[in-house]
Amino acid sequence: MNCQQAKPLIDAYDDGELDAAGILELEKHIHDCPGCALAWRNAQTLKKSLKQDSLFFTAPTELRRAIKAELRSQIETKSRWSFFNWNWLTAATTSFATVCLALLLTLTLTRPSAEQRLTQEIVSSNIRSLMADHMLDVVSTDQHTVKPWFNGKLDFSPPVKDLSAQEFPLIGGRLDYIGGRSVAALIFHRNKHVINLFIWPVNEKDSKPTVVGSIQGYNVIHWSEANMTFWAVSDLNEKELMEFVQDFAAGETLKP
Ligand SMILES: [Zn+2]
Repeated sequence: MNCQQAKPLIDAYDDGELDAAGILELEKHIHDCPGCALAWRNAQTLKKSLKQDSLFFTAPTELRRAIKAELRSQIETKSRWSFFNWNWLTAATTSFATVCLALLLTLTLTRPSAEQRLTQEIVSSNIRSLMADHMLDVVSTDQHTVKPWFNGKLDFSPPVKDLSAQEFPLIGGRLDYIGGRSVAALIFHRNKHVINLFIWPVNEKDSKPTVVGSIQGYNVIHWSEANMTFWAVSDLNEKELMEFVQDFAAGETLKP
């Protein structure tokens, strides 16, 4: 036996895995060969070292338990995949619903109210009447001419009043279209200012004149009386427009 044959057998010899003939041959070689004798002693030393307590130890119970728990949770995670999917779906749906609700709320809160929309429409109509050459369909300072002019053009008879004594002379009338229906518009003057008074029938209780607001530089005052709604709009200042409204409300209605 030479060194090349002996070296691979040293570990097996050390572990007691060689047959009797092999043991005899190897022992003979180790006895005669200092190199292989050293290799055998090293193998023995290493084997002894590995068996020492400082290098070999049993895993603590806690570590064992932690590793087992971790393995179990890995297995359970896989089996719960569909469950987590469902949870995710629920969360997504809830988030989506919340976003929708917030959006709806924003739209509802920022959407103009019916009155705001009507006021805007009235102001727009007032502006149109001033811009276009369509302020008057019937030009007359005589309420006896203006009143019958609406006959047959509207399904109601608007109260027409002469306020020239109060320095709000009537200058004429016009058909207009507000809130999806035909309405009467009476036009009055105060100095160089134009007052548009929109009138149409409503089914609502009487209400006192209220300043609805100022839009695009036009003041709007609204009131209801005897199942008619009135919207006065003008670039006249609020105080004088209110005077006009009170004078109109107090004025005598021309009997048909
Ligand atoms: Zn040797």
